[in-house]
Amino acid sequence: MYITCAVEVPMTTLQQVELVCPVCESRFKSQEVVSTNAFGGRRTDLHERAAGTQPLPYRVYMCSECGYSAIPGDFGRLEIDEQVKERVIEIIKPRLGQSEPVTASEKYEFAAKILEWSGHGAEFIANRYLRAAWSCVEEGDVEAERYFRLKVIAKLGEALGTFDGVERNQRAMYTYLVGELWRRVGDNRLAAEWFNRVESEVLDPSGEKWLKFARQQRDCPREWLS
Ligand SMILES: [Zn+2]
Repeated sequence: MYITCAVEVPMTTLQQVELVCPVCESRFKSQEVVSTNAFGGRRTDLHERAAGTQPLPYRVYMCSECGYSAIPGDFGRLEIDEQVKERVIEIIKPRLGQSEPVTASEKYEFAAKILEWSGHGAEFIANRYLRAAWSCVEEGDVEAERYFRLKVIAKLGEALGTFDGVERNQRAMYTYLVGELWRRVGDNRLAAEWFNRVESEVLDPSGEKWLKFARQQRDCPREWLS
């Protein structure tokens, strides 16, 4: 990875990086976030907003030749076997031939699929789909936002349903989040069910805030946590 130049944008600093695709070995340029802020607040589905330029579209890299996508911490670090490479070429690459540019939400979806094909845990896959849903909010795509929220619910349900799918001290947060995602897709009954489960997942004082948020979102929902 080579840093070639730095560009200042309001409140979020980006710089150009050159990357090598682990699937097709093409070299391509992308922008990475050097610094940002959370002055835009945090939505109740944990979507953090910056003042000025939003960093979310720059927190996923996509190879412009084959469509291989990953978040910066994963790019070039995760092992990609031949089968996954073939799937990227067969399933993701054709999207790049279409005239509309690939959106950030699609890039996060590609990243989620690649993790899934590579056999990674449900919690990590849920995280990429959650970023896809947040991106849809920024892109104004309500239908895709709902689709990705349901994907997160399914994956988090899977992770929470296993003994060690999630760190013990994160179970309260994820249980709250599933409730909030159900609320945001319009199923208040399932939302309340998940919010009510948070209490049994609180293990220590750090988990108590999720119980407070769960009660708030069940009884008198707000858009922003802070
Ligand atoms: Zn590539």
